[in-house]
Amino acid sequence: MERREKLYEGKAKIIYATDDPDKNILYFKDDATAFNGAKKGTIMDKGVINNKVSAKLFQMLAENGVESHFIERLSDREMLARKVDIMLVEVVARNYIAGSLAKRMGKDEGGKLDKPIIEYYYKDDALNDPMINRDHVLVFGIATAEQIDTARATAIKVNQILSEYLFERDILLVDFKLEFGNYNGKMLLADEICPDTCRLWDRHTLEKLDKDRFRRELGNVEDAYLEVCRRVCGEL
Ligand code: UDP
Repeated sequence: MERREKLYEGKAKIIYATDDPDKNILYFKDDATAFNGAKKGTIMDKGVINNKVSAKLFQMLAENGVESHFIERLSDREMLARKVDIMLVEVVARNYIAGSLAKRMGKDEGGKLDKPIIEYYYKDDALNDPMINRDHVLVFGIATAEQIDTARATAIKVNQILSEYLFERDILLVDFKLEFGNYNGKMLLADEICPDTCRLWDRHTLEKLDKDRFRRELGNVEDAYLEVCRRVCGEL
């Protein structure tokens, strides 16, 4: 499968067309941003790791009955994926108090939630991705009831499967963000699932193994990403 024209360049990936109109190539960059682009940097080999981790997790989810845009990993930084129409709602699932939830609710980070919380964010950089609810999604026509309800049910299922998979590898799945895309009328899981989009804490030490190391300047960012890759994918 050959790369054709560049369709879109985002903060972490470039999307290319291919000779098949139903398939795109995702190219994973080392560029890292935080706080809606206000903080910029690079994390060495992040693209290679995120491609590898995402591929492994999409594959594992497919084996557990969750379909995604993922087709195959083509190279270190390239993934072949179904061409989807991205839904403009980011779905966040949370198991522990952290990040914006800690801030909003005035709580310390780290407490386990009695049950997972699912949140929706309107994907709009100019507005800083505001949190919205199901009514906003429907009234403003951002997605249909069926689409958002499918996305929610899938996020709950992914959370269960992924939490278990990671726990077996000594990782706590604190929270994560999913994106979905429409593919011939079907809502497929899309984008990536990796240390950029998940909060991952060591099960025993609670050490952060994710992008918070970059956001909060905690150091050892590359080591943390490599460690996640080792635990999720086995040998590098
Ligand atoms: N997240 C993401 N992209 C975003 C915002 C959040 O991947 O644009 C992920 C983030 O890595 C974390 C979860 O979603 O795993 C919840 O993020 P939160 O709302 O706490 O916001 P943050 O603290 O990242 O600003």
